[in-house]
Amino acid sequence: MDHFLYRDGILHAEDVAIPDIAAAVGTPFYVYSTATLERHYRLFTEALSPLPHLVCFAVKSNSNLAVLKVLADLGAGMDVVSGGEYLRAKAAGVPGGRIVFSGVGKTREEMRLALQGGIRQFNVESEPELLALSEVALALDAVAPIAMRVNPDVDAKTHEKIATGRKENKFGIPIARAREVYALAARLPGIEVCAVDVHIGSQLTDLEPFEQAYLKVADLTRALRADGHAIRRLDLGGGLGIPYTRSNEAPPLPADYGALIKRTVGDLGCEIEIEPGRLISGNAGLLVAATIYVKQGEDRDFLILDAAMNDLVRPSMYGAHHDIVPVIEPAAATEGHPYDVVGPVCETGDTFARARPLPPVAAGDLIAFRSAGAYGAVMASEYNTRPLVPEVLVKGDHFAVIRARPTFDEILNRDSIPVWL
Ligand SMILES: *Cc1c(COP(=O)(O)O)cnc(C)c1O
Repeated sequence: MDHFLYRDGILHAEDVAIPDIAAAVGTPFYVYSTATLERHYRLFTEALSPLPHLVCFAVKSNSNLAVLKVLADLGAGMDVVSGGEYLRAKAAGVPGGRIVFSGVGKTREEMRLALQGGIRQFNVESEPELLALSEVALALDAVAPIAMRVNPDVDAKTHEKIATGRKENKFGIPIARAREVYALAARLPGIEVCAVDVHIGSQLTDLEPFEQAYLKVADLTRALRADGHAIRRLDLGGGLGIPYTRSNEAPPLPADYGALIKRTVGDLGCEIEIEPGRLISGNAGLLVAATIYVKQGEDRDFLILDAAMNDLVRPSMYGAHHDIVPVIEPAAATEGHPYDVVGPVCETGDTFARARPLPPVAAGDLIAFRSAGAYGAVMASEYNTRPLVPEVLVKGDHFAVIRARPTFDEILNRDSIPVWL
């Protein structure tokens, strides 16, 4: 459920009419709903209660400071995958003790940053990283709390670009070698073992791979404890999928996921961490665009929008589907017309949808991409020198620009021409 509904025939974000935002900000823009973000976060905390837990929002799915602040104010932790994301979480007011640092290639610089600023735990993905982290911590007279990220070799049954839990993926250490690596970790003076971490992929629409992975983690936890390691926490990753179409998808609910967690690892007495991104932010955002032209092709009609692949890359990168809806609600009986929905970028890949049935659209009409709050703005670029798409946050009947569209002067001034040219 989200808070983007038609009211009096006009699409609203909570109590704000989308055309009012378009008039103030220009198009294209992203708009997020505070109430939806809060609701999705609470679904997870409710699903995990009464187990001790921390829901760490995956910052990479939507890293705007205002979005992070909404969640931080509810007590959320953050899962970061870079020094930059760590600084964003801190800037949004998240204490270091609620920040988990994931990622397969942390640099020593990033480790130092997090150790000095405070960190709940590093999710370590290899032995070389473990050795580096111990050295960095020792040099700072600190001890780094860690989980090893284990790769359980389960098939997440999702898009190959976002599956991470097979042995051929670059992530984590093979679960079969985990005891050996934990033994190494326990010997390193700059390391404190405290948890086990697993994350098998993103946009999972079936709970079964989670079940397989978590059962393996439970077995491993018992074995590690028998080896003498004080495993106090389990980080079970993110990845729960969302419905990208309103019609036929019914991915599992956070409540079912919570029940699965209780069933598989609930008896271990561990504090549970999860790292959902998409399920919190995905359906909390729209990308709103205007139609520049409607072009009649030989065998199809093209809707040419002022948004493009640089603003929302998921369709061209993953072949992803986003529902597209008109901002002015069509009359109930309106017959759909198939359009190829495209952007202005000079690549055929700049196509959002083919033969998508939509009510008749005219130049100037506003349309909205649904489910665009995760992996939307964060993956945007300025390809074709198209200004980075702005972001807007709505709460009740007010809205604010939370990242402004850069001016062309700002864009051009980032480049410099060497004096010798
Ligand atoms: C991407 C990622 C997540 C979040 O995945 P979602 O599908 O957005 O929930 C969580 N943890 C790690 C380690 C990730 O890489």
